[in-house]
Amino acid sequence: MNMVPVDMKPAAGTPAETAEAGSGSSGLPVLQLVGVRKMFKDFAAVERIDLDIREGEFLTIVGPSGSGKTTLLRMLAGMESPSEGNITLRGHKINDTPPNKRPTCLVFQSLALFPHMTVGRNIEFALKVRGMAPAERRRRALELMKMVRLPEGHYGRNVMQCSGGEKQRVALARAFAYDPDILFFDEPLSALDYKLKKALEKELKDLHKESGKTFVYITHSLEEALVMSDRIGVMRAGRLVQVGTPEEIYTRPANRFVSEFVGEVNVLTARRSATGGGWTAPECTAPLKLALPERLADATEVAVVVRPEFLRFVQGPGEADNCLSGVLYNEYSLGSRVQYQIRVGSSVMLAEVSRGLGRTAVVDQPVLVGWDARDAIVVEV
Ligand code: ADP
Ligand code: MG
Repeated sequence: MNMVPVDMKPAAGTPAETAEAGSGSSGLPVLQLVGVRKMFKDFAAVERIDLDIREGEFLTIVGPSGSGKTTLLRMLAGMESPSEGNITLRGHKINDTPPNKRPTCLVFQSLALFPHMTVGRNIEFALKVRGMAPAERRRRALELMKMVRLPEGHYGRNVMQCSGGEKQRVALARAFAYDPDILFFDEPLSALDYKLKKALEKELKDLHKESGKTFVYITHSLEEALVMSDRIGVMRAGRLVQVGTPEEIYTRPANRFVSEFVGEVNVLTARRSATGGGWTAPECTAPLKLALPERLADATEVAVVVRPEFLRFVQGPGEADNCLSGVLYNEYSLGSRVQYQIRVGSSVMLAEVSRGLGRTAVVDQPVLVGWDARDAIVVEV
């Protein structure tokens, strides 16, 4: 089910059009959400979101299952109306504009292709609706197939005889046939196997670049988001907890939730001691050395995030700013790196070491691991 786009650009001479002259380079948001909230009875699936989506960007919304991603996308596509707040498209309020009156197209997780039709006819559907002549439709369909890297020979093939990856390409070509300004994707790759997924992630990114269109993509996989996106928004329980570049999300997570969502990390909860203002964590006997960001200057409790690649084996407490003693519990080969699990009291810490550095510890033996203050990220608990 794709949406037929219509021209939603403002009438000539309106201030919005003047302001957006030069379109993609203007930097004005193509879609703007202000205080957008969606209630299902008394449950808020989306909780007062403010977000500017920029013309031509690849924006990915990530979050665990049930965090409100699909609900947010359905509001952007016009399949749900917000309970509160406003959604504007190039300055026009579109809260209640139906899907077929928006210049957008939604690519689903479930493919929703016409099963009894050929690849060609699936792609041409939108063109036919618009009254394009058969020869012209065929030419355009073949052009779109080339764009999504489908072999020309597939044109007359029944869509049900295509592989999972090919069906996904047909769905993409069909979406592009509508020539929308904005494409929405709701976990389109989640059903595919790992290798195909990886290949299509890169192709989608290329396609975004080639087409110059705005992509809003939803996934529960941060790994996927990091590969493809210009910006990432992280959702939790209906709220947008951080929006930033992949680099910002990875290196400067806003809170513990984002840092843990980014991958396998060690997180210690540190408390400011009532007496001297020093920081302690249950895993450490000595006070912690922390690089506390300004915004947490008055905090009494913080989360200290140490990525496994920054936790290293040491011989004595003087070798790192902070040290923990524990027992080496297990080791795993990750190919070029080795990951170690270290039990410290009731916690398990992870350290990753390049294989080239050689074996530094023995399973079931006591070990000392440490990290420097500058290598840890201190965030809100
Ligand atoms: P996600 O896509 O992140 O997995 P959804 O947006 O599908 O999350 O759902 C967010 C929450 O809203 C879930 O708890 C879900 O059960 C609830 N929800 C979604 N749609 C409806 C609906 N039509 N009626 C009631 N609750 C809904
Ligand atoms: Mg969903």
